[in-house]
Amino acid sequence: MSKRYHGGIWLGLNKRPAIDRPVDELSAPARVVIPLLQHRGESAALCVKKGDRVQMGQPLGTDVKGISCAAHSSVSGAVYDITEIDHPIIGKSVAVVVQNDGNDAPFGYVPPERDAAKMSPDEIISRIKRVSIASACGPDYPLWARLRRMADFHIRTLVLNAVETEPYICNAQKLIEEDPEQIASGFYAMMKATGCVDALLAVSDDYGTETDDIRKAASLMGYELRLLRVPQKYPSGHEKFLFRVMTGEALRDGISPEEMETGFVYAEDCLGVYMAIRNGTPQITKVVTVAGSAVGNPQVFEIRIGTSIHDVLERCSLSFEPERVVLGSAMRGTAVDDLHTPVIKPVYALLALKSDGKRRQPARCINCGKCAKVCPQGLFPNFIALNAVNADFGACHELHIENCIECGSCSYICPGRMPIVELIKNMKKARVEE
Ligand code: SF4
Ligand code: SF4
Repeated sequence: MSKRYHGGIWLGLNKRPAIDRPVDELSAPARVVIPLLQHRGESAALCVKKGDRVQMGQPLGTDVKGISCAAHSSVSGAVYDITEIDHPIIGKSVAVVVQNDGNDAPFGYVPPERDAAKMSPDEIISRIKRVSIASACGPDYPLWARLRRMADFHIRTLVLNAVETEPYICNAQKLIEEDPEQIASGFYAMMKATGCVDALLAVSDDYGTETDDIRKAASLMGYELRLLRVPQKYPSGHEKFLFRVMTGEALRDGISPEEMETGFVYAEDCLGVYMAIRNGTPQITKVVTVAGSAVGNPQVFEIRIGTSIHDVLERCSLSFEPERVVLGSAMRGTAVDDLHTPVIKPVYALLALKSDGKRRQPARCINCGKCAKVCPQGLFPNFIALNAVNADFGACHELHIENCIECGSCSYICPGRMPIVELIKNMKKARVEE
């Protein structure tokens, strides 16, 4: 395999049976907890108080200056409480607790224009900002800010990144299979917003004929959606890895894809943009793969934002008491202890895992070098980890810790069970907080 595919690991994908089941809407819980911050950037400013009646889709917080967007209620009902939470993905945030009245009474939105072809790039980006689409795939800046940056850099290629190479995860594949026209339409709006001329659909090579309908829909809308199939080697879906696969070139230190005339969006982004332009409806749900060895009925669900992990798992018939619950994927996710933690916009997977019955040995590096072989960024994870243990940021910097994409391949392969990626994440976090 060429250097385009240097590093990474082959994982069992385990998409069945979720991939064979339709995307299902999970019923709304009795209460939702909506953090005002659900993306990188500034938190929304609270605009309701305890006891207020709110409708589904009504702002609970409004956007502020800078990179920000509003936070909307995912149910109708009454504001039960206003509190502060420390979310494992996004950190501390004010959160609004809404008691659901079960009516789903919608907040009124009447979009003035429903056709992206007749809207200017600025109008499209403003609409996307108003509906607060954020972070389809892990913590990131809001979609409007990402698109603005792509437009500023005059990107040439917009990539619909539907590569899924992590165990269980199949959100994009299901959405592309079920909603090809809507996704092609949302993608077209983003092409217009960024001014790009080249459209690429990137998928992992386990996709079958799902890509046919979306490419046909794109063609009927007047653009060609080129197809790139990439090996199911993890982390092919990571933007840096995918960029190298696409171009044969690595992104140099500190250079973003936009600076190389390339932007990445996701299937759920496209669906959100389609809904924003057609109906003006804000993002109040999240598409999440709920799976793992302790889940009896793995499936992709559309979940109201603010639903607790406990409420999600209760509706998914656990077949075992989970030993570990992970927000996100098995490779990059964050283990959570508090099952009251709400599902928010960056959450794309929820895994409940039973015990593997193995006794845990103390972590120890045996200098086998396997971590360096699998690192897609060409780093020496073992040396970085050892320096991270000693809190020696200078040495970690020399070893290019900033280039680590936190894919977890090193920790996965390590026979010494060294928590390499945790050490790296903690080191980076400590540095930022200094
Ligand atoms: S894979 Fe683990 S044991 Fe091997 S060199 Fe890396 S850290 Fe050490
Ligand atoms: S050092 Fe970072 S980029 Fe390299 S394998 Fe480990 S987590 Fe991935």
